[in-house]
Amino acid sequence: MKTKTALTYDRPNGYEKLPPAEAKKLESYCADYLGFLGAAKTEREAHDQAVALLRGAGFRDLDELVAAGAKLSPGDKVYRGCGGKALLAAILGRRPLEQGLRIVGAHTDSPRLDVKQNPLYESGELALLDTHYYGGIKKYQWVAVPLALHGVFVKPDGRKIAVRVGEEPGDPVFCITDLLPHLGREQMRKTMSEAIEGENLDVLVGSVPSRDKKAKERIKLRVLELLRQRYGITEEDFLSAELEFVPAGAPREAGFDRSLVIGYGQDDRVCAYAALRALLELPGTPERASCVLLCDKEEIGSHGATGMESNFLENSVGEMLALCGGAYSELSLKRALSASGMLSADVNAAFDPLFAGVSEKKNAALLNHGVCMSKYTGVGGKSGASDAGAEFVAEIRRIFSEHGVAWQAAELGKVDQGGGGTIALLLARYGMNVVDCGTPLLSMHAPWEVAGKFDVYMTYKGYSAFLRD
Ligand code: MN
Ligand code: MN
Repeated sequence: MKTKTALTYDRPNGYEKLPPAEAKKLESYCADYLGFLGAAKTEREAHDQAVALLRGAGFRDLDELVAAGAKLSPGDKVYRGCGGKALLAAILGRRPLEQGLRIVGAHTDSPRLDVKQNPLYESGELALLDTHYYGGIKKYQWVAVPLALHGVFVKPDGRKIAVRVGEEPGDPVFCITDLLPHLGREQMRKTMSEAIEGENLDVLVGSVPSRDKKAKERIKLRVLELLRQRYGITEEDFLSAELEFVPAGAPREAGFDRSLVIGYGQDDRVCAYAALRALLELPGTPERASCVLLCDKEEIGSHGATGMESNFLENSVGEMLALCGGAYSELSLKRALSASGMLSADVNAAFDPLFAGVSEKKNAALLNHGVCMSKYTGVGGKSGASDAGAEFVAEIRRIFSEHGVAWQAAELGKVDQGGGGTIALLLARYGMNVVDCGTPLLSMHAPWEVAGKFDVYMTYKGYSAFLRD
């Protein structure tokens, strides 16, 4: 936030100019965010939490409205789920959909360890569950820390059995063992990517034999006995299950000054929650339809029915068009999408003084300097970037300035250091304006990621401003 007349541009720490009333709102928002983050540790949980909030605020299931042959009018609030994982929510605007939507799109999947289809085995008098990691992880970070198990078993008759173990006080947790340093000489000579092998990310889940003395593999059997007692499942039911090991425990405040949030899965639930809250609190009927997208599978390339590569958005906007009175046509859908503007709501890397060499400081996001806008992402010579137009960046600048949103422009790391991508390019192909805009994080993709509360709050303020403008 600078004065319009200043010749030079500098980015102040957000706390320098934070009025007390705003500081209070910031703390209250962050407390709510901590609650959501702790309750939504998987994409399924994020979907369910979001649907509960949306229904509470009067949003109606679009598929039910379609089935009932309902009509939609300006101000109507709808949501549509996909596979229990991806979600779209929208408030219809005064203008017709063909004139474009305002979209904030985030993702709700995070790196973790997925349980394999044939996971359970016994070795060395211990029972273990074999996993396959999901997303970009540093494998060494996942050993010797408490893990919780979240997910579902789905029976052939369609019955779903939810699992959530390791989060409540008194719950057991799980862990992957690591080698003691005394015997780790060989391991310590390996590179960090080789020291812990992906195939060895197997989780310790039991050590007591079954009472059935005649059985083979009695420790494995004991685990199955307990699972049958608690969930009514058999070993075969792992075949149709989606179980995820995530770091156990609730997110919390960090730092003597409590200015930070440490928690699992802030990439990208920090943006997902901000987008959701911005939509839930949108007053009245917006000029253009306001839309929030919470998608899945971003961390593994956005493929699959619940990922952003799917037709979920077009299909859903098509359904909305069909309920809005006018006749649906492919052309009106194309017009609606290409006339839209979107914030690709995903996190960025915050400057870390311990690893200063990977950043170019004047173009790196600084913690507590506001929500971060990245005109482009990509690798090497911007490869894979959708590179937002300066015109759209200028429009967002205007909106943020008018609504008192503290923001900063940043790249992910210095040139040729590495790089990354988001869902931005998947939306840009419709011809819509898209720019990346999200919260800077420290330790991104680690079991415990760190965000600055000021940035968490400004992310929400930024998305609110964008949807309201
Ligand atoms: Mn992300
Ligand atoms: Mn990520």
